This record gives sequence, C-alpha cells and structure tokens, in this order.
Amino acid sequence: MHFKIIFVKLVSTRYNISSMDKARVASLIERIGNLLRSEERASGSDSGLQTVHVQILGYLSQCNRYSNTPAAVTEFIGSTKGTTSQSINILEKKGFINKRSDEEDGRVIHLDLSDKGERFIKNEFPPYEFKAALDGLNKNDTERLSQLLTKLLIQLQRKNNGKLFGVCHTCRHFKKFGLDDTHQCGLTLEPLSEKESYQICREHVQLPEKAV
Ligand code: SF4
Repeated sequence: MHFKIIFVKLVSTRYNISSMDKARVASLIERIGNLLRSEERASGSDSGLQTVHVQILGYLSQCNRYSNTPAAVTEFIGSTKGTTSQSINILEKKGFINKRSDEEDGRVIHLDLSDKGERFIKNEFPPYEFKAALDGLNKNDTERLSQLLTKLLIQLQRKNNGKLFGVCHTCRHFKKFGLDDTHQCGLTLEPLSEKESYQICREHVQLPEKAV
C-alpha cells in the first residue's frame, strides 16, 4: 500500500506541469519573441520599414492566393483594420507590394509582393541573426520545435477563437491528388499546386489529429 502511494505520487509529479514550468515556458517564448521583434526592427530600418511592415511582408511571402487580402493580413497580424490599412498603403507607396483587384469580384483586393518585396524577403526574413540561431539546431530538433510550437498555437487559438492559418496538409478540406495527379481544395474545389499546398491559408480548418 505504501509503495502504491509513492508510485502514484511519482507518476503525478512527472505528468503534472507545475506553475513554475508554465511560467518558464511563457518567459522563454516572450524573450524569443522580443528578440525576434528587435531583429525585425533592425532588418527593416535600412529600408525605412517598421516591425509590423516586415511582419506583413513575411506573411505575404508565405500565404496562399485565398489569404493575401487586407482582411486576412489584419487577422494574422492581430491589429486593427485601420492600422493594417495604413501599413499596407506605406508598403505599396515604398514599392514593396502591389495591389490587384480579384478577377471575379472586383471589390476584393489582393496584395502581391513586388520584385523589391521579394528581394527584401529573400535577404531579410527571417532576420539574419534568427536564421543563424536556427542553424545551431539539427533537422530533427527544428521539426520537433515546429511541431511543439504549432501544438501550443492550436491550443491558444482555440481558446481565443482565432484562425490557425495552417497549411493544406493538415486541413479538413484538403483533397490530396483530388484531381488525378493534382491536389484540390475541397472548399473552393480549385486545383492546388504542390507549392501552394504548403502555403498558409486563412480558410484552414485543422484536422483533429495532426499538427501543422
Ligand atoms: S485545403 Fe484548406 S488550407 Fe488548403 S486552400 Fe483549401 S481551405 Fe485552405
């Protein structure tokens, strides 16, 4: 009986995450976020860009064709419509993005990276120091880190009713090779190239068992 109590105590000590552990994880993520913000500020300063401008360019470089609208940018950045609209206008004025009307619905605007925007992303996003830090991890570590952070993000987004902005391969709508040798989006029924199937999407609906 005595041993049974000790065993139960050991097991519960092992699996219950203490408040101290939670605070440590929160503090680590906060510090990494602060450092990343500060590097984004530095990487954009030569081009007269603020952190939020760098974040918008970074988002536009990764999102798919359904998600490059001002509304999606606003949701992803988590800012107000007015503030995001100002940032988008600045990026257009500086020549980093181009606005384009949707071919089927002229009221919808798409935001495309210009050649200048593409060059900026290639050289500055993620910031050099952050890329160098990631080089210190091996492939397995990087994949595991990405999975764990995604798992945490899913929990946080569920609590905040926020969108996950995941990729097709973990989306409930995804039809792998749904059109013969081409993937298909089950929501829009349109074809998706292999490259598009790894871009982040505003309409993504998380499959229950998979991480992004
Ligand atoms: S399958 Fe899902 S993630 Fe992919 S384009 Fe369609 S809605 Fe977006």
